[in-house]
Amino acid sequence: MQKISKIVILILFLIGGTLFLFNNFINNYNNEIEKTQYKIDGIEFAQKIQKFILKIQKLRGYSQFDQFSVDDAGYKSILNSVELIKADAKKDIQDIRALKELYPSLYDGGYDYVIDDVKLIMDSSSEDKIVMYQKYTYAIEELKEKAYYLGFKSKLLLEADGDKYFFVEIMLKHLPNLIEVIGKIRAKTSKAILDESADNELLYTIKNNCLLCEEHIKLIYKTINEIHDDVEKTRLLSQLENISSETQKMQEYVKNTVLLHDAKIEALEFFKISTNVIDKMFILYSINAEFLNQKLNKKLDELKKTKLYGTIIGAFVVLLIFITIASMVRSYMLYAKSEKKIKNNLTSIINLKNDLEKCKTIEEIASSSLYFFANKFGVIQGAIYIFDEENNKLYLASSYATNKMKPIVELGEGIIGEVGVQKKIIHTDLNDDKKIKFRMEAITAEPSNICTIPLISYDKIFGVLQLGFLKKHENIHNEDFAYFIDMIIGFLRDAKYLDTNKEYIELIDKYVITSKTNKKGIITEVSDAFTKISGYSKKEIIGKSHSIVAHPDTPKELYKNMWEIILSGKIYKGEIKNLNKSGAEYWIETTITPKTDKYSNILGFSAIIRDITDKKRIEEYSITDALTGLYNRRFFDTNFNKEYKISKRDNKNLVLLIIDIDYFKQYNDYYGHQKGDEILKLVSLSMKSLFKRANDYVYRLGGEEFGISFYTNDKESALKRAESLRKNIEHLKIEHASSEISGYLSISIGISFIPKECAMEVNEIYNITDKALYRAKNKGRNRVEEASISL
Ligand code: GH3
Ligand code: MG
Ligand code: MG
Repeated sequence: MQKISKIVILILFLIGGTLFLFNNFINNYNNEIEKTQYKIDGIEFAQKIQKFILKIQKLRGYSQFDQFSVDDAGYKSILNSVELIKADAKKDIQDIRALKELYPSLYDGGYDYVIDDVKLIMDSSSEDKIVMYQKYTYAIEELKEKAYYLGFKSKLLLEADGDKYFFVEIMLKHLPNLIEVIGKIRAKTSKAILDESADNELLYTIKNNCLLCEEHIKLIYKTINEIHDDVEKTRLLSQLENISSETQKMQEYVKNTVLLHDAKIEALEFFKISTNVIDKMFILYSINAEFLNQKLNKKLDELKKTKLYGTIIGAFVVLLIFITIASMVRSYMLYAKSEKKIKNNLTSIINLKNDLEKCKTIEEIASSSLYFFANKFGVIQGAIYIFDEENNKLYLASSYATNKMKPIVELGEGIIGEVGVQKKIIHTDLNDDKKIKFRMEAITAEPSNICTIPLISYDKIFGVLQLGFLKKHENIHNEDFAYFIDMIIGFLRDAKYLDTNKEYIELIDKYVITSKTNKKGIITEVSDAFTKISGYSKKEIIGKSHSIVAHPDTPKELYKNMWEIILSGKIYKGEIKNLNKSGAEYWIETTITPKTDKYSNILGFSAIIRDITDKKRIEEYSITDALTGLYNRRFFDTNFNKEYKISKRDNKNLVLLIIDIDYFKQYNDYYGHQKGDEILKLVSLSMKSLFKRANDYVYRLGGEEFGISFYTNDKESALKRAESLRKNIEHLKIEHASSEISGYLSISIGISFIPKECAMEVNEIYNITDKALYRAKNKGRNRVEEASISL
């Protein structure tokens, strides 16, 4: 609203300002034109008056003649001339009267009075010459004054610019005065010549007028000299020179004839000479008038031209302003329209987003989208199909106001299948016979125009949207239409992949054993598969230490090593024996990955676990003795070799014991073979319980012969461990009635202390140890005999 009022005020200012300036401009020029025209009228008026004055002056001159003073022919010509002049003067009177209509503001009642007087004088015939002279002179003075007054009335004298003032003064003041003076001289001198004598008064008048003539000429000279235009000045001066010499000549005649009585000249001839001078003066007057007229007309033309150009420019400016205003208004309207449209679309986009965010399934999103199109674009029927890449078909996700859609469409089948292949919009105008009527609540609607739009994501067909419009040729003219489509595709795609992801996650949870712990090894998350293998429910295990599943058999060194690796930020991979809730062991292959923040601080660990219990069992079978559960001879052959190498690498002392039960043949014979087997198991268990350190290995080497290997720091502690084993068996107090050395079961042990520096072959070591055992037997059994190992 504020914006609009600002624009309106600006527009009003522009229009008002322009109109004001334009009006001023036009008024100014109109004034100037009117004034100039007025001046031109004034000149014409004055010229007419002056012409009239000339005639009256002539009539005044002729009134001094009578039939007695000139010869008949002369008098006749005078009468003729007078008649002609009178006729002319009457015409002039008519002309002057007509000026009342032409220039009402220049005309006034005074003219009528003077004209009436002149008419009376002209019509009176028997007047006295002096009276006639006076009457005419009076009329002439009146008219002269009026002509001069015209200079003010028409502003010729008041607002004359530049040189024009001087021309006006010459024309309206000095020349008429000079002419009048000459006219007076002409009349008076003619009278004096006719009377052949002159009284003092007459002489005075003639002399005075001669002086006045000089004065006026001087004044004209002075005025002309004021003119700046040199060309005009020179022209006028030369004309004045001419007039001046003529007047001088005329004055010579006056002097010679009337004042000095020196020469004789006819009155009529003198009349003609002076008339000639007056005529010349009037020519100067006319030229002057014409010059002024020309100048004023030129000015008038220029004014009119400027006014015209000004009007054109003004009109152009007004037009320009109007165009600007129109374009401003138009762009504002367009802006307002587009702003409204953007706002409208923005609201729609937000609403659509909010609606779609609430949807949980593809079907819900499709349905919401169709309702959106119905509301936003007046769609009366719609359907959304989603493309399934796995079997290359389009599945109906939702339909709006129609139940005639096929649930599954093959690619290329029908319009929908065609759009799926072409990936281009297809518009279908339905003829009346093709129209499908369907009922929407209480209304029966028939779409006339169907628009089938491909939903494309990453250049691949994602689905097809079909919209039915009521009106024919109605398409979606909205720049944001593509944006709406993109948003719908985005939501559909997310929903689709969420479905697939959910499936994957479920599968992973179900079949992949995973666990997550914090930095301290407290379980934060486990998969379903983990709960299955461990026997603990998620509720039971989350929040507990991971050691809950640790098997007591698993050497502590293994965990120590594992923690060292993962706390240093490295991945640990290893096979570990665990214990489930019900106490059964299970083997896992675990890969533990530390989770770090961007500064490499460890936040926790995640483990991907593989159940290798079966594999381990098979492995164990192949290396285990079935009867005793000890490692078998085959495993001894490879493992002892390996241990020997490790002892060298790790700088450790290795110990090998070879053990044989004393008089066991007799035992079997006395107690039976089955009892013998049980005893073998018992002895094995006893050995196992005594040798269960991380690198202690107990083997059944064959029959009732066993082997044990372990690391030791020194020989003494090794001997001690061997001795305690011997004692242990003895202390079992297994009855052996047929033993030749004791009433209880005993064992003999051959022991080899293999220092880290030892360079002997494994076989050699074995043989020497076996020899030590043989020595123990020979020395009376139930004893430990040391083998001599050389470096
Ligand atoms: P010695 O003190 O010299 O070792 O006398 P011995 O009788 O133990 O002699 P020897 O070690 O040579 O005898 C091995 C006997 O162990 C033979 C066999 O009767 C018995 N024996 C071997 N394997 C088994 C077995 O798997 N079960 C049973 N019950 N007896 C076995
Ligand atoms: Mg034996
Ligand atoms: Mg034996």
